Amino acid sequence: MTHADPQRISVRSVLSRGFRRRCPSCGTGRLFRTYLKQVENCETCATEFGHIRADDIPAYFTVLLVGHMVVPLAVMVEQLYHPSQWVHLSAWIPLTLIMTFGLLPRIKGASVGVLWRLRLSGNEMQ
Ligand SMILES: [Zn+2]
Repeated sequence: MTHADPQRISVRSVLSRGFRRRCPSCGTGRLFRTYLKQVENCETCATEFGHIRADDIPAYFTVLLVGHMVVPLAVMVEQLYHPSQWVHLSAWIPLTLIMTFGLLPRIKGASVGVLWRLRLSGNEMQ
């Protein structure tokens, strides 16, 4: 398979493929070799990803999403049921951790995909 022109792939496809932790170019190869470390090259289409640095983008969007889901839920449960502090702690801390660790690599994949599509490496300001 040849290298696809990033501009010919829709932002939606790039976001979707990255969110599934797949290569934004072909959608088949794995994007990560460990939990958050992306591969140097796609195993299927050889597109290079090792030079792309998403830095704080995934963490920012993960905190933004998880915070906007967990905090309203916690407030709603408090207003409706007034559970004890222990119930709050035993519910919201694990939920926050599960959502954070579940979403972080997916959001990083989507971030790397968008950076790749825009032909940015994340090192432009250095
Ligand atoms: Zn690929």
